[in-house]
Amino acid sequence: MKLDSKTVLIYVEHDGTKIKKNTLELITAVKKAAPAAEVNGILLCVPAGRAKLCSEIEKLNLKKVFVIENNSFSMFSKETFALAVKSVTDKLNPALTVFSHTTNSSETAKMLASRTGAALICDSISFAAYEDGEFVAVHPVYAGKIRAHVKFENQSCGIVTLRPNVVEVCESASGSCSEFETVEFAPQADNAVKILNIIADASKKIDLSEADIIVAGGRGIGSKDNFKVLEDLAAAINGVVGASRAAVDAGWREHHDQVGQTGKIVNPKIYIACGISGAIQHTVGMQTAKCIIAVNKDPEANIFKIADYGIVGDLFQVVPELASEIKKLINA
Ligand SMILES: Cc1cc2nc3c(=O)[nH]c(=O)nc-3n(C[C@H](O)[C@H](O)[C@H](O)COP(=O)(O)OP(=O)(O)OC[C@H]3O[C@@H](n4cnc5c(N)ncnc54)[C@H](O)[C@@H]3O)c2cc1C
Repeated sequence: MKLDSKTVLIYVEHDGTKIKKNTLELITAVKKAAPAAEVNGILLCVPAGRAKLCSEIEKLNLKKVFVIENNSFSMFSKETFALAVKSVTDKLNPALTVFSHTTNSSETAKMLASRTGAALICDSISFAAYEDGEFVAVHPVYAGKIRAHVKFENQSCGIVTLRPNVVEVCESASGSCSEFETVEFAPQADNAVKILNIIADASKKIDLSEADIIVAGGRGIGSKDNFKVLEDLAAAINGVVGASRAAVDAGWREHHDQVGQTGKIVNPKIYIACGISGAIQHTVGMQTAKCIIAVNKDPEANIFKIADYGIVGDLFQVVPELASEIKKLINA
């Protein structure tokens, strides 16, 4: 499929009041791969959230934004959300509809593909246009060891999801928009799945995938209580604590703290890996961090191969010292 000057539809993700960073990533990725394409957005929101969200969308560099407001969007349902997106794709007929590869958006993308029959490429890490102008999505396989270049064959419309935190948002994604068009939508009453309740994370901490600084611990931490050492360091530098799967499997941290292939993909400014060996399934989730600092007592640990700074030593000595020195600097 060639995008040329064709129409692209971007699914705008938000938390009710703020547009998520991953939407900017989608815009950046699409504009880079297909500079001549006409890039539009779709916003699903409850009526009370519309004004605030639209004022944020105005800063984005979109041609037009289709807005559907409905109280049913207060609770996520992939069927309702996919049907709402379909009401716009039916009318706009975009060559490509693009979602972020977050849980809710990728579920919506899959449901949309099944409802429209459009081909779907899931979990891409970048988009490209080949020499012949064909749109290509790059999808990692075997835990990132191989990158498959996937294109739509004989398709006039496709759906693609892009992993969050793999694209550096560039300045051009903050421009001006926008023409808004309100689209009427009546949700179906007979969805096969009914969401009864959504329980929000009570910790209110910053989501790992949005954090600027992450202090992560692995099996080397040794116990649930020992994570206190990392929490102290994280508190000193305004960071968030993450974990390897070994630490999560041991029951020391919740699954939402897990970084890696089967956890979260993160892209912080600083990632401090403590007692983590650097297995590929872990590094695939954090290797794009701007600065990686590793603390490990094994000088041969794999994590040192991707670290910008490595400290060979016992984390129970190194991490408290780091925290104490940082506190001194902050208070100086
Ligand atoms: C399909 C699949 C999916 C997976 N998904 C993920 C994933 O999403 N995320 C993930 O993390 N893993 C994932 N894994 C698991 C992965 O393969 C590794 O087993 C895991 O990452 C290892 O965690 P770790 O580094 O904490 O533990 P280990 O590999 O056991 O490493 C512990 C490290 O701590 C160091 N250490 C010990 N004591 C200290 C000390 N006192 N001070 C300093 N250093 C110390 C050791 O030298 C060692 O390097 C997955 C595996 C599979 C098969």
